[in-house]
Amino acid sequence: MDHDARVQALKSDIRDIPDFPKKGIVFKDITTLLKDPRLFREAMDLFTDLCQRARPQKIVAIESRGFILGSVLADRLGAGFVPVRKKGKLPGGKIAHTYDLEYGTDCLEIHDDALQAGERALVVDDLIATGGTARATGQLARQLGAEVAGYAFLVELSFLNGRDKLDGHVLSLIRY
Ligand code: AMP
Repeated sequence: MDHDARVQALKSDIRDIPDFPKKGIVFKDITTLLKDPRLFREAMDLFTDLCQRARPQKIVAIESRGFILGSVLADRLGAGFVPVRKKGKLPGGKIAHTYDLEYGTDCLEIHDDALQAGERALVVDDLIATGGTARATGQLARQLGAEVAGYAFLVELSFLNGRDKLDGHVLSLIRY
């Protein structure tokens, strides 16, 4: 199978859940991929190929589905793993970034010693929608002096133009 056919096959195994977590949102559920060992490996094979060109030293992954892909990716690429978490979850010294949502705000945190100045950081999440979450994460990484080598997503909802919010290279495997 060629690359596009492999991506298409994976796409057909992502489940749409209408009106979750609220009315009008079609949730892209990747648990249907994760539970199948063959599909999970295929997804990680293709995602690793996509991401290796960014030559990251650290994978900066976003809670919580970003952790699933990000930790496997870090191991495969020989990079370190750095979690970015919702407010109040990280135990050590940290910095925070608050950003606007459609209604209200959200806050993400990173340990203040997680990245070193000049280190190449790849921001990873399962999916990019409006781009606000990834943008905030990139800003946290830069605040620690890291170089954002790019942003990588298994799934991109391209009709929401989230990538336009990101200052840097955007990599995505499966697009809607
Ligand atoms: P955003 O900040 O709008 O790009 O939202 C991205 C975050 O919300 C990611 O962590 C996604 O896992 C989650 N997310 C947003 N929209 C969806 C969706 N339609 N299906 C699954 N996850 C979503």
